[in-house]
Amino acid sequence: MFGRNKGSKASEGDLAAQVVEWRRWLHENAERSYEEHETTDYVASVLEDMGLKVHRFDLGTGLWCDVPAADGTSSKDVVGLRADIDALPMTEDTGLDFASANEGVSHACGHDAHTAMLLGAASLLVADPPPQPVRLIFQPAEETQPGGAKKCVEEGVTDGLTQLMGLHCDPHRPTGEVGVIAGPITSSNANFGITVTSSGGHTARPHETGDTIFAAAQIVTGLTAALDRRVDPRAGAVLTFGSINGGSAVNVIPAKVEMWGTLRSAKRAVWEIGEELVTTSVASIAATFGVEAEVTYTQGPPPVINDEECAERARAAVVSVFGEEGVGTAEQSSGGDDFSWYLDSVPGVYLRFGVHSGKGEETDLHHPGFLLDEDALADGARLFDAFARG
Ligand SMILES: [Zn+2]
Ligand SMILES: [Zn+2]
Repeated sequence: MFGRNKGSKASEGDLAAQVVEWRRWLHENAERSYEEHETTDYVASVLEDMGLKVHRFDLGTGLWCDVPAADGTSSKDVVGLRADIDALPMTEDTGLDFASANEGVSHACGHDAHTAMLLGAASLLVADPPPQPVRLIFQPAEETQPGGAKKCVEEGVTDGLTQLMGLHCDPHRPTGEVGVIAGPITSSNANFGITVTSSGGHTARPHETGDTIFAAAQIVTGLTAALDRRVDPRAGAVLTFGSINGGSAVNVIPAKVEMWGTLRSAKRAVWEIGEELVTTSVASIAATFGVEAEVTYTQGPPPVINDEECAERARAAVVSVFGEEGVGTAEQSSGGDDFSWYLDSVPGVYLRFGVHSGKGEETDLHHPGFLLDEDALADGARLFDAFARG
């Protein structure tokens, strides 16, 4: 399976070629969240060839390993570096030679690049051991709710860590620029479903049954209004329905209407009260119109909030790799990342890593034609390495 040269202890000279080779294998063998078995085996094999001891997560995919410090001790404070390894359930349309060979699965979020860059960092750290141990986390299932990171934390992967760094490819930023900020950089996310039910009946006599369509419409507008009145307007809370289904005939009140939506927010406080707010508001609106309503609420990750000290360390790492001109700013995005789960137990920083070559159109994350500049990858490995050394 790993017929190609996986390499070990890549020198500066061949680092770029090696990281690109790893990235292409991972890209071609894209696997969905919690199904990253070959990906995990591949990453394990590369790390083991470097002489590292790999620990697989109990949850089935993903792994972590510690690179020992220069003096061989492993008990000192440990710095963590994290990559996510999963792909998306969507068909690739890039025309690349190494496009995903797995039908309906592709690395449209660039996690193949994250993984390859962290492998590159591993080779640099092994070749020139760092002053303190470094933990490399290859985490599965970032693209799920609540995210694989939560389970990795529950398995103790942050135990002993003093600082953590992660990054995400940013296709709207040029290669050579990295966005660094202290404070919030992503938003929280949660999915919810609402099932409105009644006995159903004739549209001529809504008073004899519960009018599920009418009640569903009241929930769509009422829930949004409740959020608007009960949450600080500065919190950047966005509640949106993406799906509503019910009914099949013009003169029949359906017995069931199903709706799905998302609640995102820039503030952790909204993430904390989201489930209670949605559940109680839906229950009271449903009661007003004499229907039943069941809510299923899947909590996603809270916002990623970068620690100030870690952001400063990251800024210095960016300068050491790219120079002062490589330091960019970053705004809090409405997207989420489960990196935030780690930050409940260790201070950390999440960076926006430029991967646009400057040629051709920018392609967005989660787009079937998503492309990134492979020339950025070796410097990404150096950036992880530089952060780890402090
Ligand atoms: Zn994604
Ligand atoms: Zn992603």
